Parts: sequence; C-alpha cells; structure tokens
Amino acid sequence: MRAVSAAGAAAPREGGLVDRYGRVATDLRVSLTDRCNLRCTYCMPAEGLPWAPDETVLTDAEVVRLVRVGVELLGIREVRFTGGEPLLRRGLEGIVAAAAALRTADGVPVRTALTTNGLGLDKRARSLADAGLDRVNVSLDSLDPVRFARITRRDRHGDVLAGLAAAAAAGLGPVKVNAVLVRGVNEDEAVPLLTWALEHGYHLRFIEQMPLGPHGSWQRDDLVTAREILDALAAAFDLEAEPDGARGGAPAETWHVRGHPGATVGVIGSVTRPFCGACDRTRLTADGQVRSCLFARHEDDLRGLLRAGADDAAIADAWRAAMRGKAAGHGIDDPTFLQPARTMSAIGG
Ligand code: SAM
Ligand code: SF4
Repeated sequence: MRAVSAAGAAAPREGGLVDRYGRVATDLRVSLTDRCNLRCTYCMPAEGLPWAPDETVLTDAEVVRLVRVGVELLGIREVRFTGGEPLLRRGLEGIVAAAAALRTADGVPVRTALTTNGLGLDKRARSLADAGLDRVNVSLDSLDPVRFARITRRDRHGDVLAGLAAAAAAGLGPVKVNAVLVRGVNEDEAVPLLTWALEHGYHLRFIEQMPLGPHGSWQRDDLVTAREILDALAAAFDLEAEPDGARGGAPAETWHVRGHPGATVGVIGSVTRPFCGACDRTRLTADGQVRSCLFARHEDDLRGLLRAGADDAAIADAWRAAMRGKAAGHGIDDPTFLQPARTMSAIGG
C-alpha cells in the first residue's frame, strides 16, 4: 500500500520530500541558467554577476535525470523551469519534452510550467507547447516602455508583449503575468495592469519585492505591500476572495474579479503575508544544488553525487535529507535575518 501525503495524493513508496514540520514538497523549481538578458533592479546588479562556469552547469541529460528522480522517486507532481532566463537555454524544448513525458508514482503526467521574461517567446511559444509545456508565467512590471526600461535596464518592452501574445495563441494558458511594483517607479500601476490583463485574458499576479536582489538594495520601508496593492485594486474593481482552502500550497492569494467571468488576480505577499507553513516547494539551481527554500543559506550538492556515479536511489536519499533541513519560515522579520549569498537570478525564482 502506498503512503498518503499531506495533500491526499499517493506518495512514492520510498517516501517523498517531507521536512521536519510535516510539509511535503511536490512542486519542483528548476533553474536552467543563472544568466539573463535583462537586469531588473530588484534581481540583478546593472553589471550582471559572475556567471556559473559552464562546467558546473548541469547538462540537459543531468537536468532530466534529476527531474526524473524527483518525479518517479520523490513525489514531484509539478515542474517549473526558471532561471536566470530559461529561454536562453538552447535545449529547453528537449528538457520540457522529457519532463512532460514523466509520470508520477500514481501514473499522472507531471505538470510543466515556465517562468520567463518573455524575450524571444514569440518565436518559441509554439515549439514549447508542442514539446508538452502546459503553462507559462511572463514577467511584466509596467505598461510604459520607459518605466519598463528603468526597471529592467533594457529597452525590450515590445518583445515581452509579443511573447505574451504568442504564448496565448499557442495555448499556454491561462497565461499568467508576474508583476513586481517598485516604489517611485511603477507603484501606481496596480489598477492599469489589471485593466490591461483583463482585456487580454491574462491572469495577473503581483509579487511583493523580496530581499533577494543585489545586496543592500532592499529596504523594508520602501516595500509596496500586498495591503497597498489590494486597497488600490479594491477601489477600482469588485473582488471576491477565493474560498478558504482553494489556495493549497500556492503562494498567491487570489480573487475573482466580478463582472469578468473566469478572471482572477493574485497577490503574493511573500514578505508581509508569508505562506511558509503551506510551502510545497523544492528547488534545484542550474549548477545542481538543492535549495529547500528561496531564503536558504545552505545548499546540498546533487551535481557532485551525480557526477561521481551515484545511482537514483542515492540521489533521492540525498535530496530527502536536504529537504528535512528546511527551515520553518524565511525569517525576514527576525533581527538575525541574513540575505542568502546568491541573488534571485542565481537561485531561480
Ligand atoms: N527571468 C525570468 C523572469 O523574470 O520571469 C525567470 C526568473 S525571475 C528570477 C522569476 C520571477 O522572480 C520574476 O517574476 C521576477 O519578477 C521575480 N523576482 C526577481 N527578483 C525578485 C525579488 N527581489 N522580489 C520578488 N520577486 C522577484
Ligand atoms: Fe532576469 Fe528575471 Fe531577474 Fe529580471 S527578474 S533580471 S528577467 S532573472
């Protein structure tokens, strides 16, 4: 008989990724590169970062093997590819196709998703959909090309819009849009962004800015909070909260927008409304390290094990052990909080 996980689904016989607090990780975030063609101020310094040396980055086959171990031995049910910018990874379609072909322990196809800045998505949305990709999140913080360039330090607003349109046309939907509001730049765009998203059928998700960008760049007092965003939205739209329990392990609190059937808007209050108690994530960096949390200050090396010839069972054991050490919460509010050494682009957002 199979064990039943906290989420009620069949868990692998050998045991899933359960931490000391009983949380079960079923959602895997895989960073495919630490490189990016934008330089968002809240994520990366203007000059970029020292990129991971090529030989330390997992090959396509290594990524696929770790994802397979996650799905077949550890109970992973959803795989999201991210980065850096995952569209910079040449083998992305092949990796997606291999992941999409995997089946969970209970025989269900794994769900696949991509988080991208959208540059070049206009040319690849169709091939990604053909490879089996289910869904895409595209990041767009502003409707104004000048503000977009201020935030991303690149003049590529039109490319993101083209990528979004192509994703919707390829059926990678509902297409989600991730937006970060930055004080003094686009803090007044909550309502315009939602109006635009509703017009286009995109599902908008606001993300509170987290202390994961260039060191010293985050100030709590500058944070555009979930409360502030919700107050602005509620003044312009009739929002109906999703019923309790609908959120599951999802980080976004979501609302239906009355008068727009099927439309939702979400707010991810990672800082002011943390959801650590329901977290179901495990993360793999582009250089093959397991991170139990975005804010973890410790990583466990799977690349070394894999390259030393470890079998699947040994890799699965190391991954389980890594997740047992997951902290109860991110601790941003603790006086002792320390930002992790890696910034968001190098962790994989
Ligand atoms: N390059 C892709 C993109 O921008 O979508 C994928 C990687 S990016 C790190 C993933 C998400 O993290 C994006 O939606 C981005 O806006 C968000 N992000 C980056 N730095 C952040 C920060 N300091 N706080 C909150 N969200 C952040
Ligand atoms: Fe690149 Fe995404 Fe970070 Fe922006 S948020 S710099 S697009 S990795």
